[in-house]
Amino acid sequence: MIQNPITWPNNARCACAISFDMDADSLIHIARPKDSHDRLYPISMGRYGPTVAIPRILDTYRRLGLKQSFFIPGWCIETYPETVEAILKDGHEVGHHGWIHEDPISTKGHQRESFEKTLAVHEKVCGNLPKGYRAPVYNLTQEVVDLLVEYDFNYDSSMMADDIPYIIKTNAGELVELPVHWGTDDWPPFAHYDEIGYMMPVRSPSAGLAGFWEEFNAQYEAGGFFMLIVHPFLTGRLARWKLVEQWLEKTLDTHDVWFAPLADICAHVKAAHEDKDQTIRVEHLPYYDSPQQ
Ligand SMILES: [Zn+2]
Repeated sequence: MIQNPITWPNNARCACAISFDMDADSLIHIARPKDSHDRLYPISMGRYGPTVAIPRILDTYRRLGLKQSFFIPGWCIETYPETVEAILKDGHEVGHHGWIHEDPISTKGHQRESFEKTLAVHEKVCGNLPKGYRAPVYNLTQEVVDLLVEYDFNYDSSMMADDIPYIIKTNAGELVELPVHWGTDDWPPFAHYDEIGYMMPVRSPSAGLAGFWEEFNAQYEAGGFFMLIVHPFLTGRLARWKLVEQWLEKTLDTHDVWFAPLADICAHVKAAHEDKDQTIRVEHLPYYDSPQQ
């Protein structure tokens, strides 16, 4: 049960999104800056995303008439402009995902430069400024929240304080939070990446995805919000994406869901909050001003 469920457009039972973090090979460059350019295996693993997986994903979404959200580091936008153009051409949203997937915690105090550098690339390649943000490795900091408010973003999608969207309120302004969690992220079941310290047994496609569908069933029953966080180079692989595609077809056919880009879900929540016709939960930031011990 969800204490304060949100009423979705057309009284749909559940809001849904399968969002993408197109990190490509930024992960190896930020992890091994001295010699990443000559680590061909992780570069090639990352390149699978923009070159093979994204065309496959776009094809599915075009066929099913779905629009969704893609979070892409600025460096990846600059490196793979044709992929980004194809995403935009199909009417999808592109959100801010750092410059080269730098961890906001490890670049604390110096986020402005890379944040603004990414905005400039969005303006150049996408022709507009992003309104949504997802922190690399979800490591959102207060510094970044303040930048999001300063640059008039509408939402963040990096935090985990609720099952359904909520409002983040700071002294400077408000954002909608479209919450993530590790149970709906494809990194744990499918990533195996020694170079960045991630050594896990890779699950079979059906076993790795099974937990996601259980998460959906619970959200659907409660009238909530279901969002997957998918890395194209992981779940865009042939066998995995085939199962996601089958699930999408079946769900669209048999369930009353509102599949929408995060920008649209955010706009709905924001309007409901501002009109005060529904009670959207508010989290006040900063949580703490100093280390707690
Ligand atoms: Zn990422």
